[in-house]
Amino acid sequence: MKIYSHQACIEHEVSPGHPERPERLSNLLAHLSNIGLTHDYPLHDAPRATNDAILRAHPTSHLDHLEQSVPLDGVIPIDPDTWMGRQSLAAALVAAGAVCAGIDDVVKGSDSRVFCAVRPPGHHAESDAAMGFCLLNSVAIGALHALQKAEIGRVAILDFDVHHGNGTVEICKDHPDVLVCSSFQHPFYPHRFYDSDWPNIINTPLPAGSGSYEFRAAIERDWLPAVAAHQPDLILISAGFDAHALDPLAALNLEDDDFRWVTELIVSLASEHANGRIVSALEGGYDLDALNSSVTAHLGALA
Ligand SMILES: [Zn+2]
Repeated sequence: MKIYSHQACIEHEVSPGHPERPERLSNLLAHLSNIGLTHDYPLHDAPRATNDAILRAHPTSHLDHLEQSVPLDGVIPIDPDTWMGRQSLAAALVAAGAVCAGIDDVVKGSDSRVFCAVRPPGHHAESDAAMGFCLLNSVAIGALHALQKAEIGRVAILDFDVHHGNGTVEICKDHPDVLVCSSFQHPFYPHRFYDSDWPNIINTPLPAGSGSYEFRAAIERDWLPAVAAHQPDLILISAGFDAHALDPLAALNLEDDDFRWVTELIVSLASEHANGRIVSALEGGYDLDALNSSVTAHLGALA
């Protein structure tokens, strides 16, 4: 397993009191160091995504808008929930770059599993809109980057963040080679691109209060047949941990062990269909202790 991160992802500042705060990542990396995980799997500096890679998922106008919005100092809102400081665009560029570099690694075969310990998250960013704490859609950029490679004809994006991956759906819905499976609390933010009729989009809504049993049953019912039918050559994970029972933003009741379970399931799907290739990118997760323990369970299963 290889882990990518970058200092810019810690330096991405938001408004005071915002849940998607730098401590999410600094605290997580300190925890991974304390338990010896980054001793066994040292952190690698993520490169910046290339403009070519970004512009497969976003129009030039979106990247221009982000570049023009970078404040000289302090933070500014770019959407009611989404803030930018001086390092925020740099952070989003290396977050997407981490996913692309991870894809390069698993296609070359130097590693078969990659985790991207990055922020801001990406799955709410639509092609022309930053939203929901997200500036660039890292996994969608990664999926379209992967499809440039001769070895990768089909990609599956599996998203277990508590929020629907609206941006990933919007960007990938017209790419039949990309399967997007998203489980999420419903009804809940962001209420976009949910009522869909695209064959490559599998939505798994879960009512507030759902726990381990409901989550596991729904994933087995929806994701297993979809992935088997799609036969992906690569699996990308939008790894959000805000469906945890302790998360302050949402009302699902998953435990660390559910993240271990779903990761083990994805590992077995990747072994069966995708030559073992998995690149996972951090999305949400806003209780610092629950984020640490959930990511530890995820990485234990991934490694
Ligand atoms: Zn989320």
